Amino acid sequence: MTNKPEVIRLHGYLEENLQDYKKASMFLAFPKCSFKCATEQGLNPEEICQNYFNIKEQIKEYPLFELYEVYRKNPITEAFVLGGLEPLDSFDDVWSFISFIRDNALLEDDIVIYTGYYPEEIKDKIDKLKKFKNIYLKCGRFRIGQERHYDEVLGVNLANEEQFGIKIS
Ligand code: SF4
Repeated sequence: MTNKPEVIRLHGYLEENLQDYKKASMFLAFPKCSFKCATEQGLNPEEICQNYFNIKEQIKEYPLFELYEVYRKNPITEAFVLGGLEPLDSFDDVWSFISFIRDNALLEDDIVIYTGYYPEEIKDKIDKLKKFKNIYLKCGRFRIGQERHYDEVLGVNLANEEQFGIKIS
């Protein structure tokens, strides 16, 4: 009997992404969000959510080992960005992915989670993730009418003043 490979559910991935972190990264697109940024502002997510275009993509299962192999064979990438929609609304899959990279692949490369939550809203998840080294968060809602700014932690421009990067471990 063969064991089924462990999988996570994504809209897809980009093998190389140069815009969300200071290091070239593999980008994983997680498929869920409550669309809090829009509903809190009384807006339709389609109007303001910069990730809404992903919603029409098919959700597929990706074996963790295959994702790792894509990363391992790429000579340019040296970090991962977990984005989406809202990766922390798929926390079980985020946990599976990070556990695989740290505990099975034995890689300590930077992992950046692009979340719309603020740290005080996800304290339980941050406490769990602190077990791993080199975990970063991009925190904060998307708000309309604010300026982009450079974030020193992530080394890239973020979409508005409410967003900021932190290193949690
Ligand atoms: S958290 Fe991200 S995907 Fe969700 S509503 Fe905000 S910008 Fe859109």
